[in-house]
Amino acid sequence: MTVTALITDELTDIRRLAASVANEVYGPIAQELDATRTPVSHAQREQLGELGFLGIAHDEKYGGAGAPFSHALAVIEEFGKVCRPAAFQIFEANTGPAQALARLGTEEQRERWLPDIIAGKKTMAVAISEPDAGSAATDMTTKAVAVGDDFLVNGTKRWISNGGEADLYLLYARVSDAPGSKGIGALVVESTMPGVSFGVPERLMGFRGIPSADVILQDVVVPKENLVVPAGDFPKLFGAFSIERMGNATMSLAIGQSALDKSIQYVQERKQFGKDIIDFQSIQTILADMLLQVESSRLLIERAAKSVDEGLPNSLHVSLAKCAANEMAKRVSDLAIQVHGGNGYTEEYGLERLHRDSHGWAIAGGTPAMQRTRIVTELLGRRFDQRR
Ligand SMILES: Cc1cc2nc3c(=O)[nH]c(=O)nc-3n(C[C@H](O)[C@H](O)[C@H](O)COP(=O)(O)OP(=O)(O)OC[C@H]3O[C@@H](n4cnc5c(N)ncnc54)[C@H](O)[C@@H]3O)c2cc1C
Repeated sequence: MTVTALITDELTDIRRLAASVANEVYGPIAQELDATRTPVSHAQREQLGELGFLGIAHDEKYGGAGAPFSHALAVIEEFGKVCRPAAFQIFEANTGPAQALARLGTEEQRERWLPDIIAGKKTMAVAISEPDAGSAATDMTTKAVAVGDDFLVNGTKRWISNGGEADLYLLYARVSDAPGSKGIGALVVESTMPGVSFGVPERLMGFRGIPSADVILQDVVVPKENLVVPAGDFPKLFGAFSIERMGNATMSLAIGQSALDKSIQYVQERKQFGKDIIDFQSIQTILADMLLQVESSRLLIERAAKSVDEGLPNSLHVSLAKCAANEMAKRVSDLAIQVHGGNGYTEEYGLERLHRDSHGWAIAGGTPAMQRTRIVTELLGRRFDQRR
């Protein structure tokens, strides 16, 4: 058997396993988690860890599987089709801040935090955005001032997914007085550190079951050994964030694929005017458009995923994949509601949940408008200053 065949077989196996756990364990509770805005429990998270889903793209040394990145994306997709709160745990551990830590942290930091994250005992969120620094992330004002062996950290982070729930925060902050991105670094803040508090949980349109809150830092003393990325290394930080954008794109792919799968079934069962609605040409056109958009996004994501396995991701390929997938998920879930008629507008069919979540994934990790700016920046190799 060739190596490629082996990888392909393993990929198929892990996708199948993920789909069966997602459907059996999370299928029955996904709607309830959404309706009650409840995250997966610690026990469920640890079960995801025991099954190996939280460490797919991490080194075996820390308890991971050391598998290709595409395997992690396949698992995120299978869970994302069924239950985004569960998929979110796999996304955070494999493609989110824990992956940035794995790639940019010191050996001591990896040994300190990764095993617990991979086992599901702890979670790590990423805290970049602030009340006045969203798309303009480099306008952030949260400061980490060096004092002896520590940093004194002050600031407020906004829209932090898993805020209040996560144990660890990869906090982007100004660690030097250098202006713009040059002064930004990242350090790990623990939720139990004195001076860390959380805002009132946000009531988001979607993303229910994925808590969101402000993270407030008041004179938090963080040891210097928690510094993951020093000032001056922002390009590396942004490079690692591209891996998170791949996870984000995959969440959107999952939403689009799920909306498409439900529609394929429905249009062949639902009868009007005495025949299956798929027999109407306009329904065929909608279905073809949905498939076109989902498959195009899938190919863009697969191309971008290859560059992640080869090292740091190709930022142009990632921006194209994220932008396309985010917009695809919004359109395809909208079309799915349309072909389901009145049923599409009920909670029962899960399409409104897919549509609500699609908007969240498009804003998180940089809006499609900002992705477009990045696409042209990377295409032309030119920076376009948004402030002048
Ligand atoms: C569900 C969800 C989860 C999130 N999770 C996290 C998280 O875990 N951690 C974290 O740090 N942040 C998180 N965020 C924050 C997210 O990254 C920001 O919301 C996003 O970057 C946009 O920033 P903003 O909300 O301040 O909007 P703004 O930046 O105020 O943008 C408003 C509008 O203006 C447009 N715009 C702004 N600047 C330009 C420009 N130069 N050119 C063209 N159009 C422009 C935007 O595209 C948008 O349409 C999350 C957000 C959401 C909704």
